[in-house]
Amino acid sequence: MRNIKRLRIEVSGIVQGVGFRPHVHRLAARWRLAGWARNSGGALELEVQGAAESCVSFIEDLVKQAPSPARVHRLGVTEIRADGREEAFTIIESLMAGKLSRFIPVDIGICDACRRELLDERDRRHGYPFINCCACGPRYTIIEKLPYDRERTSMRSFHLCLDCDFEYANEIDRRFHAEPNACPQCGPKYTYMDSHGSATGSDAVIAAGKVLSEGKVLAVKGIGGFHLMCLATDFRPVDKIRTLKDRPDKPLAVMVSDESEAARLGELSAAEADLLRGPERPIVLLSRRAGALPDNVCAGAGTVGVMLPYAPIHLLLLEEARLPLVTTSANHSGAPIIVDNKEAAAELKGIADGWLLNDRAIVNGCDDSVVRHHAGRSITVRIGRGKAPAALRLPGVNRPILACGSDLKSTLCLAAGGWAHVSQYLGDLSDCDCLSRFRETAHRLSRLLDVVPELVACDSHPDYVSTAYARSLDLPLRRVQHHHAHIAAAMAEKEIKGPVIGVAFDGSGWGPDGHIWGGEWLLCDRRLAVRAAHLKEVPMPGGEAAIRQPWRMAVAYLTALGLGGPAIADIFPEIDAADIRLVAGQLAGGVNAPLTSSCGRLFDAVSSIVSGCRSQSYEGQAAAGLEALAFAARDEGAYPFSLTDVDGVTQVDYGEMFAALLEDKAAGAAPAAMAARFHLGLAEVIRSVSRRLRDKEGIETVVLAGGVFVNARLLTATAGRLEADGFSVITNENIPINDGGISLGQAAIVAAGGGLPED
Ligand code: ZN
Ligand code: ZN
Ligand code: FE
Repeated sequence: MRNIKRLRIEVSGIVQGVGFRPHVHRLAARWRLAGWARNSGGALELEVQGAAESCVSFIEDLVKQAPSPARVHRLGVTEIRADGREEAFTIIESLMAGKLSRFIPVDIGICDACRRELLDERDRRHGYPFINCCACGPRYTIIEKLPYDRERTSMRSFHLCLDCDFEYANEIDRRFHAEPNACPQCGPKYTYMDSHGSATGSDAVIAAGKVLSEGKVLAVKGIGGFHLMCLATDFRPVDKIRTLKDRPDKPLAVMVSDESEAARLGELSAAEADLLRGPERPIVLLSRRAGALPDNVCAGAGTVGVMLPYAPIHLLLLEEARLPLVTTSANHSGAPIIVDNKEAAAELKGIADGWLLNDRAIVNGCDDSVVRHHAGRSITVRIGRGKAPAALRLPGVNRPILACGSDLKSTLCLAAGGWAHVSQYLGDLSDCDCLSRFRETAHRLSRLLDVVPELVACDSHPDYVSTAYARSLDLPLRRVQHHHAHIAAAMAEKEIKGPVIGVAFDGSGWGPDGHIWGGEWLLCDRRLAVRAAHLKEVPMPGGEAAIRQPWRMAVAYLTALGLGGPAIADIFPEIDAADIRLVAGQLAGGVNAPLTSSCGRLFDAVSSIVSGCRSQSYEGQAAAGLEALAFAARDEGAYPFSLTDVDGVTQVDYGEMFAALLEDKAAGAAPAAMAARFHLGLAEVIRSVSRRLRDKEGIETVVLAGGVFVNARLLTATAGRLEADGFSVITNENIPINDGGISLGQAAIVAAGGGLPED
């Protein structure tokens, strides 16, 4: 008799909702093995029995030939007694609870096979906007509970017709156990509505396409929430969206039908094309080609956000419109993404000319993810559909931790069992709808992952809404310094322990001295951080007002350098001298003028001097304008910063930098040249401070983190210089480099025993 073996196999990772059970089934048939497989909790369990050598081949192929969206994090194999009596291999009913770590499957953009069927007139799903298969379709956005099976998703109310059921049950079909499987007979439907009436099915798509072609604004329910869409080639509907959504300047994303169209709007490298096409289908920020679109699509930004269609409905709309479409989330800036038909109808009254709705509920609202790639480095600007929830290895989590992140660009992180799970972007928590979405998401993640937090982490800012939420949970609490969390987020994602030289440059974060930090060099590991250097502090005249009006910051820096009101008024001829006097008075009186070492504010000041930027309507606007200018210049020298030591901490002084800038400005230098010199000056000073710290401490690794490093010009100039000096440079890649990464950093620090208890 041949050598018969029976193996028990446990696979954890992204193995649900990615066609893993069908994959296992096919392999078992190929190697003539009997047994069974089932989803168990968030993982997969199986047993196979057959010839010993076939078992070995099966295990090899199991991982090597896994479907592309799958990620195997752990594979456990044990040999057990070969006394199974199965004749064949079967998929058996899922087990609700499992002892293995759970992972939540993420949404996957439409695959090529489904796309072909969608556009094939002979196919039974021709033009059907909910087509999907094991390799594509919604996942997280429709999941209510795990294990991931249809009855625990918002597809539950749609009963499979005979044809769909046959595919679902047929192990050689590519829709075998595709949970959202659907067709025009049995699945969800789109309905179009406007003030004149309504249409359903394919008529709805045609009616919606007509609205777009007429230069009107269409509200579309997609995978993660509602978008407003209009022709990107027509400035009028774009203008309407901007005015009515009160979004005067923030660039709007554009959906294009293919890569060649993307390349027409922005410069597209091979790496960027890969990002565009990837299963996550994010918005990719490309360097914009001037004149390719009306100016009001991207406003003053040097980048254009481009994405490919990821839901079948997008493909159909692009087929109808035949032009690139502005595709922007329909919610007001800072508010949570709209997921509900009724809410969309109410919120978008007067903005949308037509509504394309459907009857499948969005369970977990997700914005589109936003990524950027430059000079070999990819960064995430926003984590959303396709990327969230992200699972990262996080050893040392003894008690489950809920980390509440930061208030702006809020995300949550739930860590347990050696893994951290980072939520989608949840908006700005000063908006109370965002706060309720935040609460909901905390509960949902806890249910999905079957983890009850025992420890809560939050920012050390006493007035953050997320801090108040953390306190309200009545659990042991750890407060984590904001910039340490930025650095720890990168260390966690890149799985390094430290110590590192952490350079955290951002808009603002609470410092232990009560000042607003944001231009920091920290010597840190995962548990502790020491401030080793920082940008010299300056008062922020008017507090928050100084963020909205960048010239106020310029007045603050220039006053600190000893320049008087009249000299400053000369630099800003377009600003009322009385306003400048008012700000100078605030500075002199020290009223409502908190001290800050923020690099974001330094960018604001320089931007207002270089380009006269008077006000900004979204965070980072002045800096983005300066970056765009810097990209237009050749490398032309760097402005100098000087270093002084105060009580063992290095202060980076901007005096010489401003003096050189003002000299350039007086001499009529090109704004692009001034912008470039400022960027390169910062890159140089990051290098020189990091060198100093390396000489003192012997640390060779630098982490660059914080929202300022969304700036690709600065990031690559800095990383390039540091690498040339022999440093190893670490940045976040799939977790946001800005405040969206704070929750992961908090979890990592608390998992390592860091953070301070509530006092
Ligand atoms: Zn597919
Ligand atoms: Zn059907
Ligand atoms: Fe920050």
